[in-house]
Parts: sequence; C-alpha cells; structure tokens
Amino acid sequence: MTAFDTFAMVDWSGGNDTGKRPRKDAIWACVARAGETEAPIYLRNRVVARDWISDLIAAELAAGRLLMLGFDFPFGYPRGFARALTGSDDPLALWDWFEARIEDAPGANNRFDLAGEINRRFGGEGPFWANALARDIDGLPRRKTQYRNPFPDRRAVERLAKGSFTCWQLAGAGAVGSQVMMGLPVLCELRRRFAGQVAVWPFETLDRPVALVEIWPSLTLGAAPAGQIRDAWQVEQVARALSRLDPGALARQLAVEAPEEGWILGVEQMKTEIEPPPLRNDCFALPAGVEWTPVDTALAHLRDRLGPVTSIRTEPVAGALGRVLAADVVAQRSNPPLANSAVDGYGFAGGRPEGKHVLPLAVGRAAAGLAHDGAVPAGQALRILTGAALPEGVDTVILEEDVTLGEDRIAFRGPLKQGANTRMAGEDVAAGQVALRAGRVVTPADMALLSALGVSELSLRDRLRVAVLSTGDELVEPGEPAGPGQIPDANRPMLLSMLHRFGFVPEDMGRVPDDRDSLRARLDAAAERADVILTSGGASAGDEDHVSALLQEAGAMQQWRIAVKPGRPLALGLWRGKPVFGLPGNPVAAMVCTLIFARPALSLLAGAGWTVPQGFEIPAAFEKRKKAGRREYLRARVRDGRVEAFRSEGSGLISGLSWAEGLVELGDGAGHIRPGDPVRFIPFGSFGL
Ligand code: AMP
Ligand code: MG
Repeated sequence: MTAFDTFAMVDWSGGNDTGKRPRKDAIWACVARAGETEAPIYLRNRVVARDWISDLIAAELAAGRLLMLGFDFPFGYPRGFARALTGSDDPLALWDWFEARIEDAPGANNRFDLAGEINRRFGGEGPFWANALARDIDGLPRRKTQYRNPFPDRRAVERLAKGSFTCWQLAGAGAVGSQVMMGLPVLCELRRRFAGQVAVWPFETLDRPVALVEIWPSLTLGAAPAGQIRDAWQVEQVARALSRLDPGALARQLAVEAPEEGWILGVEQMKTEIEPPPLRNDCFALPAGVEWTPVDTALAHLRDRLGPVTSIRTEPVAGALGRVLAADVVAQRSNPPLANSAVDGYGFAGGRPEGKHVLPLAVGRAAAGLAHDGAVPAGQALRILTGAALPEGVDTVILEEDVTLGEDRIAFRGPLKQGANTRMAGEDVAAGQVALRAGRVVTPADMALLSALGVSELSLRDRLRVAVLSTGDELVEPGEPAGPGQIPDANRPMLLSMLHRFGFVPEDMGRVPDDRDSLRARLDAAAERADVILTSGGASAGDEDHVSALLQEAGAMQQWRIAVKPGRPLALGLWRGKPVFGLPGNPVAAMVCTLIFARPALSLLAGAGWTVPQGFEIPAAFEKRKKAGRREYLRARVRDGRVEAFRSEGSGLISGLSWAEGLVELGDGAGHIRPGDPVRFIPFGSFGL
C-alpha cells in the first residue's frame, strides 16, 4: 500500500526537556495532506510528542485515512547488534529490549547508563561512545580514541549516504545515538497501543493504515532560510515533498530490502550490492610436514584458497578507470553503428575490374554525422568523407588521391574490390557481443571502448582497501630525528606507494612498538578500516615477533617458511576475518615478498583474478653461483641488451631496490650463471609498479 492520505514528519530529539520556549533542539512535527502542509508543531518533550502522535493516529484512523509517519532516526542498528543483544536478528525485538530498559521522564533519563551497561557486555570499550554527563560511566568511553567497536560502524544505508553520523555516538554535534535510544521505546509503545494498525518499514509489509518510516531530512535539504528554525522548516519540506510525490515514485522508494538494519526513505538502494562470503579460517594452512615450501607451492596455495572480498555495485562508467569489472560487459550498440567510409573519396556500388573507369558524379555529398539524403543511382559516384555512413547505392569507395576529378565526373583505374575502403557495421564489436570480461581492471582504452559501445552503467567492485602498519621499537617516523639505535620507518612509505600503484586504496595505520597490546589495538583498527592488512617486521618466531605471536593467539595463523631469497618466514593469518600478510622487516625482503606473494593474492582478493608477471629471457651481464633448494630474486636492470645485477645481494641495501628496474628470477635448482647466459628478467612494470 503506497497511496497515503496524510504524511506526518517528526524531527526527534534525544536530549532532556529543559524549558517552555520553542527551542531548535526539541521535537518538531508537520502534517501534510494532498500536497499542502499545516503549520509545523512544536513538541517540547517526548511525552508531549507521544501524546500528540497518538492523537493524530487515532484521528486518522477514525477518519479512515492512511497515514505515513516519518521519524528522523535509525529504526535499526548495524548488522549483528540485534542478535548479540536479544538473540534474534529481528530489529523489532531490539525495540522491545530498549523499551523494557529505558527510563524516560522530562528532565532525566538513563540513556548513558544503559549504553554503559550494554558496552560492559561487550568488553566495556564499545559499541557506544560519548557521554554528555559530568560523571563518568563505567564502560562508556568519552572519546573515540578510547573506543573499540565490536560491530560495524555504519549501516549499509549510511555507507551510501555520505555525511551521516553513526548511531553509536551518543553526544556531540550532530550525534544521533541518543535519539535512537530515546525514540525506539516511544515507537514501540505506539505499535502496541495501535496493535494491528501500524506497520514498520522496511521490516513489515505496509498493509495497515499507518506506516512508520525512517527519514533523514538533512540528506537532501540545504540550509533553512534565514530566521527559520531548521528542524521546523525541514519537517515541513519533507512532509510536503512526500505528499506531492506520485504513488509510483513513492512505491519505488519503499521497495527496499533491509530486514535487519532498516533504511532511510529516499536513499536509492544500489541495484546490486553483493557482499562476498567470508574467507575460511584455514585459508592459509599449508600442508604439514614440509620444511621449506617451494615458491610455486606457496603461490598455488594462495591461488586456491583466496577469493574476492570486495563488494559489487552498479555505477556510471565515468568512475570505472582502474576498477575491477564484476560482470561481463555487453555492447549496447555496434561499433561502427553503420557501414561507413574509411577514407575521403568517392563512393559507388560494386567493384571495378582492371582498366580505366569514368563515373558521373551524383549531386551532394556524405560526411560524418551528416547523412546523404536519397540513393546514389547505379553507375554514379558520390563525394564521401571519412566516417560518413554509406548512403543507399554505395558499398565501395575509391580514395580521392587515386581519382582524377573532372567537372561532373571522376576517372580512375581499376581493379577495385567491392567493399574497398569501407568499414562494415559492427566490424569492431557488434551489439550484444561481450566486449569485456568480468575481472578485468578497466584501462584508459576500455574507457573509449565502453563509450563507443553505448555502455553507461557497469557492475563494478569496490576498490580493495589495504591497511599498512610497521612494527618495531627501533622505528621513528620518516623525517623525524632518530636517536642511537633508531632508524626511520622505510617500509611503510614503500608499501603504501606500491599499493597505490597496484590500484588499491592504501590505509596508513602508522607504526606500532613491539608491544602486544598496542599491536592488538592497531590490528583491530586496521581490520575495521580495510579489507586486507599488510604488516612489516615481527613476523618471525623470536621474542619480539609479536605479529606472529598475536596471529597465533587468534588461532588463524600460519608461519610460511618459503624457500626464497630474499625473504624470511611470512606470517599469514586472519585477524577479525581480514587476511593479514606479515611481511619480513627487512625492506628488500618486504618488497620482494610483496611483489611475489602479496600482489597476486591481493589481486585475487580484489576480484581481478590471479596475476602472473610477464618476464622475458635476456643474456646476463653477471656471473653467479646458486645453491639448489630455493628460488632467488636479484635486483636487476637492463642495459645494452644485457641484464645487470646489483653489486651486492645484502638484504638491507635499500639503494639496490632503488637502483633496480626489475628482478632477475633464478629457478629453484642449482646453477652457475655466466655472462651471456639467458636469465629471466621481470621488469617492475610487469608487477604493476
Ligand atoms: P624484524 O623482521 O622485525 O626482525 O626486522 C628485520 C630487520 O628489518 C631489522 O633490522 C629491522 O630493524 C628492519 N626493519 C623492520 N621494520 C622496518 C621498517 N619499517 N623500515 C626499515 N627497516 C625495518
Ligand atoms: Mg622488529
């Protein structure tokens, strides 16, 4: 049911009632019918508001009118909260839960205490934060820096509606957390009082006379005109706009699926928002009993166990560069759309044999974008320019340079094949053909192709977000003074820039000392912000190797001892469901391991499939003896057709990374490479750098 008679919009408030004069942060409501609004109504506290709403519902029911009642606070919490608190995903069970516990009287209520009580159930650092009271509340952090949220920060709709506040923040400018807590019990009571007459959108079918919907006026409305109270003005605007909306448009806005978190009316639900399945806890488990895992085994393992973790949504083509296609792209139109001329010249029907030909010129000409009217008579030629659609009676074109032009005729020599110098409709791509495959990373050339093929919207994956953090007591921020025994953090700037070049979204999570609690907190924050986490340092099995220790503690960690040089053990694991690549601290090993192991894995996680860097064989300009049993990567560059290796293989020599333009890959077996022997060189460009 979507044809409502009455629209009443309410701007709620979570604060306490303190005075009698209309204040901007109390409750405002406005009623509209048949496109016209009544004057906004000031409701000084929630008790007054509840009574006013009850009277309105009763009056509308008595008059046999259908009522849409909107409130400007979330009807649900982010995924998982309802179940954690009530044992059920049903948001209406959460409404009951709050109603049973919230005490609300004008002048005082227990919302901060209840938030503290809820937080204590989850470890006492979240999900709620901020406290407007002078007294401290156990378990309720005052500031976000002291805060840890076991649930998602935002609902799906809030991730789409930029600029929204989260329902976890209870105080401070713009916070909505208190409104939700103080609003849901009132809605709950109304539902009970008018049992069977009220349906809550989008949790229930709207087949009752009253519909409760969630609105968010600030999302679409600008600033209120000078001198007007914003909330009063906003409820009036929204009530009027909804009552003027045609029922079909309103029905489309109401047709959303959000059974747990709820939705904001008017926010367009993405046509496809698909969350990929979570990774399995054992995704990094290597076969037992192998001392040193060969590189290819390790790679094959990553390739088998990992899959896309990024969400999919439909977006305009303009933002597609560098993004991963989530579905095959089908040409909406042919390129070229019509048969046309490939050159400037003269068009006619049919080929011509060897010898001299003279053809009279037809009147007019055909140019690109300017169709020729009418047919060209048989035996005549028409002036035609590059890109012009072939007019009726033309299937062959002679190049103007091959023609002698008379006053009203042309002469040229054959032979000329039928169809010469023309392009067939759809000879590039025909409408309906698959032009690009799912998993492709969109290139500048693809942007041209997509435009030519009339594609306006694409199913794209979100960019992969990759968090980077460095560990080590010895590290200082680059550019800051370093004391004795300290070194600047070199890995983090390197890894962040590499990720940027790979086309991912790097998230800088800073440096962490060799301290388990700090690292744990930082990993939590990284898991909240990113899809994948890269750490460097502390990945071995020593006393100060806290990355591996923590991942081990989390129960989802594997030490990968890979037969590769440079490289020490890699620590791979899941932290709060997010894959962690624990890279060696050594900058050379960190970079090589990122290129060889992390990059193809990240590409898979991003939905772009496994990548194999393209290398080529080229004569060596160096000599090297190599032991069997491990693969080696040398910092290398090509000069004068031969590949040079860096002067030293020392794995702390960052200048060698900088000197190099790629890597030489030496196979797992023993070898003695002499100058002139072919070796495999992989330019950094092939790794996407
Ligand atoms: P770790 O893997 O933590 O034992 O570190 C191995 C070596 O790499 C040590 O010499 C560290 O000082 C060095 N190292 C670790 N992290 C970094 C970093 N972010 N930048 C530069 N060097 C580092
Ligand atoms: Mg260290």
